[in-house]
Amino acid sequence: MLSVVPRPVRVRVPAKINLHLGVGDLRDDGYHQLETVFQAVSLSDEVTVAPADRRSITVIGDNANAVPTDHTNLAWTAIDALAAMTGHRGEVAVEITKGIPVAGGMAGGSADAAAVLVGLTRLWRSDIDRDDLSSVAAGIGSDVPFSLRGGTALGTGRGEHLVGVLSRGSFHWVIAVAGGGLSTPEVYRELDHLRAGSATGEHRAGPPDELLQALAAGDARRLAPALCNDLQPAALSLMPTLRRTLRAGTEAGALAGIVSGSGPTCAFLCDDADHAVDVAAELAGAGVCRSVRIASGPVPGARVVPDETIG
Ligand code: ATP
Repeated sequence: MLSVVPRPVRVRVPAKINLHLGVGDLRDDGYHQLETVFQAVSLSDEVTVAPADRRSITVIGDNANAVPTDHTNLAWTAIDALAAMTGHRGEVAVEITKGIPVAGGMAGGSADAAAVLVGLTRLWRSDIDRDDLSSVAAGIGSDVPFSLRGGTALGTGRGEHLVGVLSRGSFHWVIAVAGGGLSTPEVYRELDHLRAGSATGEHRAGPPDELLQALAAGDARRLAPALCNDLQPAALSLMPTLRRTLRAGTEAGALAGIVSGSGPTCAFLCDDADHAVDVAAELAGAGVCRSVRIASGPVPGARVVPDETIG
C-alpha cells in the first residue's frame, strides 16, 4: 500500500498586548486573579510542524539563542498535550521563527504552543473542535487560549477564561523592544512585594468599562487614557530605564504608552498608520530601546498559512 507522508504545516501566530491588566489577589494555587483585556497584534511567530523520526525543536530569528529547544519550550508541552489526547507518539520536527520579542511580555512562548496545537491538529488530521483545543491550551499556560483565539477578548481567572470584546476598526501601535527580558514570575513577585510595603494600600485597576466603550467605538483618543497595567510599577521597579522609554514615546507624539504585560516591551498607541510611522522614527532616534516595530490590531489568532502563500 502506498503511504503518503503528510506535508509540513506552517502556522502564523500573533503577539498580544494587555490593554487592561487588573491584578487581584494571590490565589491558593499560586496564581493571581486577573481581569485583562487582550488584543492580538501583527507581530508574529511562524511555526512549522513536520513529520520526523524523532522530536526536535529549532528556533531561528531575533534572539533565538535565548529560547530553549528542549522540554522547557512551551511548544514541547503542546506536543505532549496533543499527543496524549490523540494517541500519537509526538515525533515531529518543529521550527519556530521568532518575530515576537523573547521574554518581552507579549506571550511569545504561549503563541508558539498555540501554533503547535493548530499545526498538529492539521498534520495529524485530528477531529478536535476549537473548544476542546482551548481546554488543552489552558492546561499548557494562561495565555495560550488567547493566542489560539486572537482578536480582542476579556480574560478572567488566570486570563484563560475568554469572552470576545467588540472592537471597531484597527488600532495602531509602536512597539519598543527592550535590550533584555523580564521573567513574568519575578514581576509578579515584585508586585506582591510592592503591595506588601504600601502603607496606604496600592492603586489597583478598576473595571475596564471605559476601555471597552472606547474599543467598541474604535476611538484611539478615548482608548489612550483608559489603558492600564497593574504590573507596570513592578516592571519599572525591576527595570527603571523603562521610564525613559515610556517618556520618549509620549514625547515622540504617541497618544499613550504602556508596558506590555509583565514587560519589558512597551507599546505606544497612535492615531493611525501614518502617525505610527512618525512616532516609530522619532523613538528609534531616541536610543531608548533595542529596536522599534510597528504593529496593528486586532488580528486573528493562530492560523494555518495556506500553501500557496508560502514563498
Ligand atoms: P508571558 O507574557 O506569556 O508571560 P513573555 O512574553 O514575557 O511571556 P516568552 O517570550 O514567552 O515571555 O518567554 C519567557 C521565557 O520562556 C523565555 O525566557 C524562555 O526561556 C521560555 N520559553 C519557553 N518556550 C519559549 C518559546 N517558544 N518562545 C520564547 N520563549 C520561550
